[in-house]
Amino acid sequence: MINVTKTFLPPQEEYNAILKQAWDSHWLTNRGVLVQELEAKLKTYLGVSNVLATANGTLPLQIAIKALGLTGEIITTPFSYVATTSSIVWEGCTPIFVDVHPEYLTIDDTKIEAAITSKTSAILATHVFGNPCDVEAIEAIAKKHHLKVIYDAAHCFGVTYKGQSIFNYGDVSTCSFHATKLFHTGEGGALFCKDEQLYNTFFYHHNFGHKGKEDFQGLGINAKMSELQAAMGLAVLPYMESVLEGRRQAVTYYNSALKGDFIKTLKLRDCTQWNYSYYPVIFNNETQLLKVVKSALEKNNIYSRRYFYPALNNLPYLKETSCPVSESISRKILCLPLYDSLLLDEVDEICKLIKKSL
Ligand SMILES: *Cc1c(COP(=O)(O)O)cnc(C)c1O
Repeated sequence: MINVTKTFLPPQEEYNAILKQAWDSHWLTNRGVLVQELEAKLKTYLGVSNVLATANGTLPLQIAIKALGLTGEIITTPFSYVATTSSIVWEGCTPIFVDVHPEYLTIDDTKIEAAITSKTSAILATHVFGNPCDVEAIEAIAKKHHLKVIYDAAHCFGVTYKGQSIFNYGDVSTCSFHATKLFHTGEGGALFCKDEQLYNTFFYHHNFGHKGKEDFQGLGINAKMSELQAAMGLAVLPYMESVLEGRRQAVTYYNSALKGDFIKTLKLRDCTQWNYSYYPVIFNNETQLLKVVKSALEKNNIYSRRYFYPALNNLPYLKETSCPVSESISRKILCLPLYDSLLLDEVDEICKLIKKSL
């Protein structure tokens, strides 16, 4: 069986050796040495000034909305994982969907200004599949209209744009370290923020608002990463270069084998160093997609995923709005299997099955 992804696991002895520190100290959470070591190593690896490790990649989105004091309407993308939208709704704000660019699949910044009202407080956009939004255009709009910018950078581990980490853009960026993501801690995530003062606010928010043992800075929640999660991250991190290389080879093979007009692949924004996090392909129509999924891949025990379907503006708990580009893409897009240990023979088989079925 070939699944859409396969979690990279480090040699178990190496994980155990790191875990032993937690065993020896009987210290399993509350920002122990392993969480602090992981944060320090991530700062260096990614080239960012502040990292806050969290229990997953959804809590930092909620914390960002809460700590920035956002209210009213938040402009967002309909083409992302549900957590982008649900975090806005969970924090009592209203998502206002702006359609995506048909090739980059990120929010169409030329359509943002028309969606701004007196109630708009922020833009929450996703660098979907690790492809950066037009961060310069978004920054200009945000400055002009006094809006905050949050990036859901869940797919962006290791992505750079114009030579620096994509996590350095916007007021705050978040990442997911879920087991299905490129870099992982089982469950986990992080928040990135250049502004020191703002970072401190996020820090308090992620630990119940604690400022010392008996004092409180304000409202907070528990979003702390545990030592057990950090141990996994510390064991996985040294392998990231080889994980990326394995994925790069699979992507290169896919690109050449699927060349032609019958299928479209992701258009990366210029000046991006990408991380090979997903391999989305866009078919001409949904019928074609279903045919490939059902009669070519699944019959051969190969499992792709319809990331992201449905478009988020169609979520059942939202009032109906229309985003024609995103809705159309969502129906036609499929993520093919991609992970570091995927063999080129397997990629070859997948491509042949797809081509035959079309
Ligand atoms: C995975 C993901 C999240 C949520 O991360 P978790 O770690 O699973 O909570 C948020 N946004 C996007 C775009 C994601 O893909």
